[in-house]
Amino acid sequence: MNEIPHEKPYHLDPEDWAAFRRLAHRALDLAIEDLESIRERPVWVETPDWVKDRLVSPIPRQGKGLEAVLEDFYQLIQPYGVGNRHPCFMGWAHGAGTAVGIVAEMLAAGLNLNCGGRNHIGVELERRLAAGLAAQFGFPASADGIFVTGTSQANFIGVLAARRAALGEPLRERGLSGAPLTAYASAEAHGCVAQALEMAGLGRNALRSIVCDSQGRIRPDLLREAIRADRKSGMTPFLIVGTAGTVNFGAFDPLDELASIAADEGLWLHVDGAFGALAIFSDALRPLLSGVERADSIGFDFHKWAHVPYDCGFILARDGDSLRETFSAPAAYLSRAKKGLASGETWACDLGPDLSRGFRALKVWMTLQSYGTESLGAAMDANCAAARHLAALVNKSDLFRLAAPAPLNIVCFTTERPEGNRALVEALHLEGAAAPSLTLIDGNPVIRCALFNHRTEIADVDIFFAKAEALARQLIAYECSG
Ligand SMILES: *Cc1c(COP(=O)(O)O)cnc(C)c1O
Repeated sequence: MNEIPHEKPYHLDPEDWAAFRRLAHRALDLAIEDLESIRERPVWVETPDWVKDRLVSPIPRQGKGLEAVLEDFYQLIQPYGVGNRHPCFMGWAHGAGTAVGIVAEMLAAGLNLNCGGRNHIGVELERRLAAGLAAQFGFPASADGIFVTGTSQANFIGVLAARRAALGEPLRERGLSGAPLTAYASAEAHGCVAQALEMAGLGRNALRSIVCDSQGRIRPDLLREAIRADRKSGMTPFLIVGTAGTVNFGAFDPLDELASIAADEGLWLHVDGAFGALAIFSDALRPLLSGVERADSIGFDFHKWAHVPYDCGFILARDGDSLRETFSAPAAYLSRAKKGLASGETWACDLGPDLSRGFRALKVWMTLQSYGTESLGAAMDANCAAARHLAALVNKSDLFRLAAPAPLNIVCFTTERPEGNRALVEALHLEGAAAPSLTLIDGNPVIRCALFNHRTEIADVDIFFAKAEALARQLIAYECSG
């Protein structure tokens, strides 16, 4: 018999606020302690099977309350993260987070704003940040943009805006109608660029992959040739994607030259600056971005080199109307009032595909206000110095050699036998000693250290490298004996 439980409140607020307050304060204390003591623990610990099995089975019908859930969190969740906060995490391109970020996420959750639109502080803060970012990148006052999950999404939006600019208003009603659009990016462009073309209905083959120079930068002469050849065969070139900071080596395409080609050819220039664009905060690195001010759009991440907690990407367009023309839709339930909560000329949902969206602006604002661009830029410079130190260690070592140029904060190196690289990286992960990643260069796996962490010091690089050398020696001894 189903009885309605009258005595239970139907709302979800705590019955005992004082008890909740104690639990919540303790949770914050423990989160801070966890970050403060990050060096004392392994970089990574594999999630054991018993933990996986205890996670959710089945979805509970009756809750057990926050106190018990927090115990589960410390046992089942907290120890088994990706490791990116640790100074010896050197894989992929991950941000390290900050103490300010912990507080910012908590405060944003407290407010629980929906920043898709309407007239409130979350929307206003995002619009002001967009204007501030536009100024950083030398964009005009017409620029506009929004927070998105990450640069994969930002690049996709850039492709959609370029596609709308190429095909005009009819695209919105009729779709592509077989338009033979082609886009251009370097062979070192991130995989999400091809995926963006695929998602835009153009297919991966619409992306022309342009050969790079020895430093991993797009060859502008070959780019011009490819555009010319496509025009000759009846295609419609519409987009160049330049990369500011390639994921393999940290190379910057010559953006100024790309902007000139885009201008000559009437193409859209989108810059994938996932981690590299915010190098605009560093006096030393800023010259690498020369020409970015001429781009039509830039995609970049705050969650990488600016260490804002995941997730936090941004798409900035030099002409905000290009985004409005791509996305804004006249839904009755989104209509604007002249005054009050439903007022406001531009809502975030006019500039991108998301309607409901969180308050990513708060953690960015708190990060920028707390640290300032100078500290963020200095942390980037320190990563580049640590990478130069690592490259020098590699050059001096008789066990390793550099596998690629290391112009920025990413160092790719290899043992004499590339097959050993995989085993070495896996051993480092399993020991929890360090977390470099692997990438392929000319089809061979190489060890890749991407130094993005503001906690990584030269001493950490030394510890990592000593460990890697010891393991490499062990592997050689093992191979010789086997
Ligand atoms: C990380 C990265 C991306 C993808 O960004 P996400 O935020 O992970 O979606 C795209 N391009 C480059 C160059 C990257 O480094």
